[in-house]
Amino acid sequence: MKVKVDERGYYGNFGGAYIPEMLYPNVEELRDNYERIMQAEDFQEEFQSLLKDFVGRPTPLYFAKRLSQKYGAKVYLKREDLCHTGAHKVNNTIGQILMAQRLGKKKIIAETGAGQHGVATATVCALMGVECIVYMGAVDMERQKPNVERMRILGAEVRAAESGSKTLKDATNEAMRHWINNPTDTHYIIGSVVGPHPYPEMVARFQSVISEEIRKQLLSHEGTEKPDYVVACVGGGSNAAGAFYHYYDDEDVQLVAVEAAGLGNDSGESAATTVLGKPGVLHGSKTLLMQTADGQVVEPYSISAGLDYPGIGPVHAHLFETGRAQFYSATDEEAMQAGIELSRLEGIIPAIETAHALAALNQMTFKAEDVVVLNLSGRGDKDLETYIKWGKY
Ligand SMILES: *Cc1c(COP(=O)(O)O)cnc(C)c1O
Repeated sequence: MKVKVDERGYYGNFGGAYIPEMLYPNVEELRDNYERIMQAEDFQEEFQSLLKDFVGRPTPLYFAKRLSQKYGAKVYLKREDLCHTGAHKVNNTIGQILMAQRLGKKKIIAETGAGQHGVATATVCALMGVECIVYMGAVDMERQKPNVERMRILGAEVRAAESGSKTLKDATNEAMRHWINNPTDTHYIIGSVVGPHPYPEMVARFQSVISEEIRKQLLSHEGTEKPDYVVACVGGGSNAAGAFYHYYDDEDVQLVAVEAAGLGNDSGESAATTVLGKPGVLHGSKTLLMQTADGQVVEPYSISAGLDYPGIGPVHAHLFETGRAQFYSATDEEAMQAGIELSRLEGIIPAIETAHALAALNQMTFKAEDVVVLNLSGRGDKDLETYIKWGKY
């Protein structure tokens, strides 16, 4: 099965670039140049060197012995939690800051919900000495104070979005407005495989270093590049897209995407887009999104800030529609239990986003010889408050 983006930015029925006319020049400039820039030798050299020495790649592929015993399969963890800044997000922001420089852009804007993408963006802007403005909903700023301060320490300006529900979608609107008003000198760093074409594909390519490494590392562990399953959580879908990317054509590798079911998919408090969503346009692309009968975006809910998003990237809508990936969802409670379980069995406290992927292991059935690679997208340090509040450990 082909999981390839076409010229207009579609994966099957999903994708494209649904943007106001005012944004055409910015998006077209990126679309017409990203492929060439990315493939240039000097770009690859600088990107690879920063991934190695700044991010700390390759991240280990770790055989989780006690977790394997528990689930009756060989479970490997791809340790994105060991990346600088604590998650996979920095792979993408490094790629995009290098892209911005080659496009001659002097300033960076971004939007952030929980603040993780904002921190990853502020980090690479500090690294390169580039001005950085991060839009964040005023409510989110209140909820995620440590990340607001992290961004400020790194030298970024955090601007509060005061409209609407004062959360992620309002921050996105503000960032878009800023970009429209500053088309020539500013690059907009989007944090997941979402947004208008070419963002979803560009971000997936930057994150595809994850599956590139898994293939090599699994070969040395198991004598084959191909596991039976690759499991990852999906907010917008960038860590999953990175972990799946070099396996799309290997139909014998089962791709497993895990969404957040919040308080349960029937509770009205969930973020499981493939369960609850319908086709529509969100953040500039056609995808599946949670919406009311008259097309209003429904506020998603998850205990995990990184999965609390009303849509999924178009590539995941395509993987869902075609059946190339299996989709599971895990509730807050299931995820929190899985997070504690990993802490106790392997000495690794995972991000609560990642804990959703771990929770799906409980819903799957394995044969003893199955090889499972689970993308450990981030570490739990940022979630300590949430673990403490939940309290059951
Ligand atoms: C942001 C985040 C996610 C969700 O984003 P994706 O684009 O779906 O990967 C998952 N895990 C961690 C640790 C995150 O910080």
